[in-house]
Amino acid sequence: MGAAVVNEIVDAVVIGTGAGGAPLLARLAQAGLRVVALEAGRHRDPEGYVNDETLSADLYWQGERLAGGAMPQAFGANNSGIGVGGSTLHWGAFTPRVDARDLALRSETGQGRDWPVTLQELTPLYEELEGYLGISGPAHYPWDPARRYPLPPVARNAPADAMALGCGRLGITTCDAPAAVVSQDYQQPGGPLRQACVSCGYCHQGCRNRAKVSMDVTFLPLAVSHGAEIRANCFANGFERDSQGRVTAVLYVEAGEQKRQLCRAVFLCAGAVETPRLLLHTGLANSSGQVGRNYMAHVATQVWGTFPAEMRGNKGWPSSLMTEAMVRPVDADFAGGYLIQSLGVVPQTWADQVARGRGLWGQALVDYIDRYNFTAGLGINGECLPSGDNRLTLSDEVDDTGLPKPRIDFGYGDNEQRLHRHAERVMTEIWQAAGATDIWTLHRAAHTIGTCRMGTDKDDAVVNPFGQSFDIGNLWICDNSVFPSSLAANPALTIMALSLRTARAFLAQ
Ligand SMILES: Cc1cc2nc3c(=O)[nH]c(=O)nc-3n(C[C@H](O)[C@H](O)[C@H](O)COP(=O)(O)OP(=O)(O)OC[C@H]3O[C@@H](n4cnc5c(N)ncnc54)[C@H](O)[C@@H]3O)c2cc1C
Ligand code: SF4
Repeated sequence: MGAAVVNEIVDAVVIGTGAGGAPLLARLAQAGLRVVALEAGRHRDPEGYVNDETLSADLYWQGERLAGGAMPQAFGANNSGIGVGGSTLHWGAFTPRVDARDLALRSETGQGRDWPVTLQELTPLYEELEGYLGISGPAHYPWDPARRYPLPPVARNAPADAMALGCGRLGITTCDAPAAVVSQDYQQPGGPLRQACVSCGYCHQGCRNRAKVSMDVTFLPLAVSHGAEIRANCFANGFERDSQGRVTAVLYVEAGEQKRQLCRAVFLCAGAVETPRLLLHTGLANSSGQVGRNYMAHVATQVWGTFPAEMRGNKGWPSSLMTEAMVRPVDADFAGGYLIQSLGVVPQTWADQVARGRGLWGQALVDYIDRYNFTAGLGINGECLPSGDNRLTLSDEVDDTGLPKPRIDFGYGDNEQRLHRHAERVMTEIWQAAGATDIWTLHRAAHTIGTCRMGTDKDDAVVNPFGQSFDIGNLWICDNSVFPSSLAANPALTIMALSLRTARAFLAQ
């Protein structure tokens, strides 16, 4: 496939090749459109992944992000990825579907914000994705009996068995977690053979045998097989527009050279930090004043304990057991809820967490880390309400891309604090019931969400319910930024569903 000459007008430029960009890139290419994807990071060969956290650090976006607010977020390995495939190169591949109540939280509780999308609209998209990607999951999903997963569950690891024991003793229902990991060899339609998960436990460092879904082994090869062009190491830094304000070209830098790609439409899929950063920098699509606002990060509290038997949390797909029992806890004093999952964490990440979460250092840290093989954790993904105080703005400092560094102010509100305390208590009880001792809590938030929300009111949202900018008709956004609220479910499956939905809406026009 030849490279598009810079002066060719392509049907669409897609900026970013992660969970938001890749599915729609494939659908546009399958529809016969001439599409070019610009990706800031490089191509990687899965064979090159190593089970080493230090050597894998460049999977993560390393550009400096300034953190402020009451709970400044630790960026780097806790935020987003870079490379052809985006954050799906390093993600954990835990793929719950959203709960219908979370999409209508404001109607239910008077707090948060309703989505302009219903579960009825999302369900066929989830089914399409789960079938195409080869999602592994339980034969019987306790909270949605009609649901069927195409592949049997991934093997449980020891922390999952401990969670099953503790929850069983407390009467909390659990099940094998839905995993974007193939439990059997799987020929990816339009892509490579993906070998069954071998339980190595290094999903966050990239999956060598392609068992884990990442866009570079699923939607991106499909897109390329239909003529899409992916330009790696190309950083989009601006737009050209015509007299009506429509985008006519995307400006980008490749190997230090400023270039432009003429286009009829642009899909901005750079994630919930880089998408608003580019829009604020260029001053586009912000008549609502909503670009950068309502930054959210899931409440992601973890509880750790020590067990008499070996846990070896570095083995196995990390999140192999889960429960939706706390999506609406009966004794909640907060709006929304949370999912609980078993955790497997590889050694260096775990040591970092211990130093930060327990405040250990020096010999005390070394002594505790010696227990690594006997420790296991539980973690949540909990609702974070949108708040005007939590916001991305541009700082006065410029990084080597020539753009101002983003500044992200974030802090928990009362609802997140209450949810955190509830989850801390429940997870502590589960670990006590499972026989753990020396139980402690790691305070943390995870994921980058919001900043360009979708809605039905152009004065109150950046894009419409299909991702189309209210201000610029040929500018579409599809990534974690369009989420009006965080939802309790982890985001990537829903981002992919929105991506298919955005592609359909665009193609229908
Ligand atoms: C450690 C970790 C584990 C996670 N585990 C899970 C999980 O188990 N389940 C789940 O649902 N979610 C998980 N997530 C979250 C999930 O990975 C993200 O929510 C999701 O991938 C975000 O998709 P996106 O399309 O918004 O952005 P991304 O997937 O990050 O894609 C954005 C892409 O845009 C590129 N880009 C940015 N700026 C530019 C530019 N100016 N020009 C060109 N390209 C640009 C980036 O390089 C990147 O490739 C995890 C996240 C982390 C950090
Ligand atoms: S645990 Fe399975 S999915 Fe994760 S990296 Fe290893 S083989 Fe891939």
